[in-house]
Amino acid sequence: MKNDVIVIGAGASGLMCAIEAGKRGRSVLVLDHAECAGKKIRISGGGRCNFTNVHMGPEKYYSLNPHFCKSALARFTPQDFIAMLEKYHIQYYEKEEGQLFCRKNSLDVLEMLREETAKAGIAMRLKCKVNDVGKEERFRVITSQGMFEAESLVVATGGLSFPALGATGLGHRISRLFGLRVTPLSPGLVPFEFNRNDLKTFGTLSGLSLPVKVRCRDREFQGKMLFTHQGLSGPAMLQASSFWKPGDILTIDLLPGQDALEIFRTRQGSRTEMHNLLAELFPRRFSRAWSALHVSSKPLCQYTDRELVEIAGQLHNWEVKPKGTQGYGKAEVTVGGVETDELSSKTMESRKVPGLYFAGEVIDVTGQLGGYNLHWAWASGYVAGQYA
Ligand SMILES: Cc1cc2nc3c(=O)[nH]c(=O)nc-3n(C[C@H](O)[C@H](O)[C@H](O)COP(=O)(O)OP(=O)(O)OC[C@H]3O[C@@H](n4cnc5c(N)ncnc54)[C@H](O)[C@@H]3O)c2cc1C
Repeated sequence: MKNDVIVIGAGASGLMCAIEAGKRGRSVLVLDHAECAGKKIRISGGGRCNFTNVHMGPEKYYSLNPHFCKSALARFTPQDFIAMLEKYHIQYYEKEEGQLFCRKNSLDVLEMLREETAKAGIAMRLKCKVNDVGKEERFRVITSQGMFEAESLVVATGGLSFPALGATGLGHRISRLFGLRVTPLSPGLVPFEFNRNDLKTFGTLSGLSLPVKVRCRDREFQGKMLFTHQGLSGPAMLQASSFWKPGDILTIDLLPGQDALEIFRTRQGSRTEMHNLLAELFPRRFSRAWSALHVSSKPLCQYTDRELVEIAGQLHNWEVKPKGTQGYGKAEVTVGGVETDELSSKTMESRKVPGLYFAGEVIDVTGQLGGYNLHWAWASGYVAGQYA
């Protein structure tokens, strides 16, 4: 069967690309091996879909080439997506730090995309496994439902994260097949797992949350840190995980914006026990566990200034060496992807293979937490849809 465009992947970027190409009068076929479209959209943002962020900007994205995302972000803005939602009377709200969520749930966004694909005359084949892809004069896609041909092929298959929702390495494989480079891949926005000793000490604190600043390599993130049964999660840790490499140490400031030494010094003459003072600063369960490792408690008046400097330093620079992360199974995104130098930032088309396009998470562009990854999927899909 011949089409103008085949889009592999009925996720955020693939659907947006198909809609835009369809609006241009192209005949578009979308293929996906899942039984329904947009599975990740459905569960995103805890079921409410954090679909974009009002603080959009290229600085919210990581890539070997930090400039690559600029053109797409300039051509499809948060306001453009909001305008789509408003056309469908979908209500949304700003939660925190510019994050926009559906007021009801993510099914509103899915229903909107379904209607838009119907209006644009998009054909869709679900439960369709892609076995092979090649190019002669046209692209050929061999699937469990037969062979399909098209002038343009858009690879919108996402990254490796959450295989339970249909993620596979197909996009990276197609990229390599056509001789396009793929940068190293790793799970991002993913919880950490404690090493054995920390698990014994802190594994019982599950559910407890603290405001922290965490440093990983040359990046710093401020926000909540959440203790889980296995390790550390919460926004600050998830953000740090996108940069973490095996063996790296996380340096955690447990009192961001405060001066622990100053707090100690104001109480230096008192008979308050150090562990009681720490229990005033932190939830008691945490202060007990942390003090057991770092402090031999005695009344504050018995500490030398040097000892206080040392404890304050540890509170501002608590070093944790995770055993690892929870991996792709629990990662919100995949860091890395098709190398951006291989693609035109204006069209998302391969420089080497005319007619071959990429969109979404399969490309080496990773967003911070907070609606940036879905927005990259919409924006890159939108751009590819103008040319495919
Ligand atoms: C639990 C979770 C929550 C998230 N919440 C948010 C959020 O609130 N806000 C945000 O910005 N980002 C969020 N993200 C990230 C965001 O969902 C993704 O970055 C985004 O969906 C990527 O869009 P995409 O179109 O590139 O890929 P996907 O949405 O992953 O779509 C890829 C499609 O390709 C199909 N596919 C894959 N392999 C094959 C194959 N071999 N054959 C046929 N089809 C194939 C898949 O079935 C899928 O439908 C979340 C991610 C997860 C896992």
